[in-house]
Amino acid sequence: MAALRIGVLALQGAFREHRRMLDGLGAETRLVRWPAELDGLDGLVIPGGESTAIAKLLAIHGMYGPLRDAFAAGMAVFGTCAGAILMARDIEGARPDQEPLALMDVRIRRNAYGRQIDSFETAVPFDGVAGGPVKAVFIRAPRFADLGPGVRVLAVGDGGEPLAVREGRALAVAFHPELADDARVHAYFLESVAGA
Ligand code: GLN
Repeated sequence: MAALRIGVLALQGAFREHRRMLDGLGAETRLVRWPAELDGLDGLVIPGGESTAIAKLLAIHGMYGPLRDAFAAGMAVFGTCAGAILMARDIEGARPDQEPLALMDVRIRRNAYGRQIDSFETAVPFDGVAGGPVKAVFIRAPRFADLGPGVRVLAVGDGGEPLAVREGRALAVAFHPELADDARVHAYFLESVAGA
């Protein structure tokens, strides 16, 4: 099978780490900053970072329409942390100029964890990922607050809160799998792209 062509949105945030993981899994990767760079992609990763900054740059780069169109035309999208925030239809705690991409029927709350646990690492059982819980790094993580009927929960936290959700070819996780030494969530994404 030909290698999957996966773009990594490289406007701000942890895009290098994502690319390294995807390269390690045999994907043909490309950094994406401008609309033409979406051409021919099987999937796109939207990294964690700062969702307000990424939103601003998406607008400046004229990416909102082309990214939504590419998704509608069959490109899969995987968002982590800030990326998950941008994929939601509704962002609680958004800046007024922070437009969601609205690729998934979910509402998400920014910075939902209190100060003391701003940042932590844990292990999370993940539906569809074999070999035990996946390593997950949380940094000022968001929380999925409301899920539409077509959204499947793949991982939950200690309090039962969803940590990973999927709706068709949209996959979003509240944590940073790219910052842990564990590529299985990326492998899951590639499998889902290959199976689509
Ligand atoms: N709190 C950040 C935001 O709202 C997301 C944090 C992250 O991606 N690690 O964009």
